[in-house]
Amino acid sequence: MNIAFIGLGNMGGRMAHNLLKAGLNVHGYDLSEVAIQHFAEAGGVVCDSPQDAAKQADMVITMLPAAKHVKEVYLGENGVLEVLKAGSLCIDSSTIDPQTIKDIAAVAHSKNIKICDAPVSGGTIGAQAGTLTFMVGADDQTFNEVKPVLSHMGKNIVHCGDVGAGQIAKICNNLILGISMAAVAEGMALGVKLGIDPQALAGVINTSSGRCWSSDVCNPWPHINENAPASRGYQDGFATQLMLKDLGLAVEAAGQVKQPVVLGGMVQQLYQQMCMRGNANLDFSSIIQQYLPQEA
Ligand code: NAD
Repeated sequence: MNIAFIGLGNMGGRMAHNLLKAGLNVHGYDLSEVAIQHFAEAGGVVCDSPQDAAKQADMVITMLPAAKHVKEVYLGENGVLEVLKAGSLCIDSSTIDPQTIKDIAAVAHSKNIKICDAPVSGGTIGAQAGTLTFMVGADDQTFNEVKPVLSHMGKNIVHCGDVGAGQIAKICNNLILGISMAAVAEGMALGVKLGIDPQALAGVINTSSGRCWSSDVCNPWPHINENAPASRGYQDGFATQLMLKDLGLAVEAAGQVKQPVVLGGMVQQLYQQMCMRGNANLDFSSIIQQYLPQEA
C-alpha cells in the first residue's frame, strides 16, 4: 500500500516514522524544511506538493495544525481530492471542528473517495511510542479498512460513529481535560499557600475523589510526577495554544447547538491570558502560574 502523509510536524513526523518502521511505503510532504529532513532521514520519500504525494497513493493521512490547513490540502488549488483515484482512503488526524470534515467528506464521496476523521490522544510521547488513541468517525466499512493502518500508530482504535463523531469525542475530552487541569492547579496552589506540603497534598488527592489524569500523571506542581512537563520547566508537552484551540472548538460547537459550556468558557479565558503573556508554547499545565505570585 502507498501512503501519502501530509503534515510531518511534532505528531505527524513521529506517526509517519512508525508507518515506515512497519515497512509501509510512505510519501510525505510538509511546508517545513526541518520536518522534511527528519522524514527523509527515517526513510520516507519526500514530495514537492500534496498532489505530488497523493497521485500514486492508495491512502492519504493528514496531520495538520487547524481546519484552514486541512481544507487547503484536500480542497485547495493543489488539493489531493483532485488527483486521488476512486476507491482511495483518506484519514484526517488533525484536531478540527466536526463540520469541516463533514464538508470535505461530502466532496470526497462525490468522487467515490472514502474519508474519515481520526483525531488522537496521547501527545508526542504516544505518537513516538505508537500508543495513540484514535477516535474514528467513519462508516463501518471505512473503519474496518483504516483500522490496520492506524494500528501501526496507536493501541486504541475507537469507532465513535459516522464522519465527524471522532472530532466530537476529541473536543469533549479536551474540554474536560482543560477544566480538570485548571481545577488541580487551583487546588494545589491553594493547599500549598495554606501550608501543606505539595507531595502530601498530591498523595491525598491521588487516593481520594479529586484524582484525575491532571493530578496523578501530569500534575502541574513540579516534581510530583518526574516525567510530567511541570518537572522540566513546562517544556515539550501539550502546548497551551493547542489547548486554547481545542477549547475554542468546544465553545464554538456548543454555541452552534445552544448548549452551555460554562466552565469551558471560563478556562478558555485563563489559557488565553497565558498565551497573551508569551506562554503559548509552554505545556498547558503551566496554568498553575496563574495562581502563584509573579516572580520578581
Ligand atoms: P505541528 O505544528 O508540529 O505540525 C503541523 C505540521 O503541518 C507542521 O510541520 C507544518 O509545517 C505542517 N503544515 C501546515 N500547513 C501545511 C500544508 N498546507 N501542507 C503541508 N504541511 C503543512 O503540530 P502538531 O503538534 O503535530 O499537531 C498536529 C495536529 O495534531 C493539530 O491539529 C493538533 O491540535 C493535534 N494534536 C496535537 C497533539 C500534541 O501533543 N502536539 C496532541 C493531540 C492532537
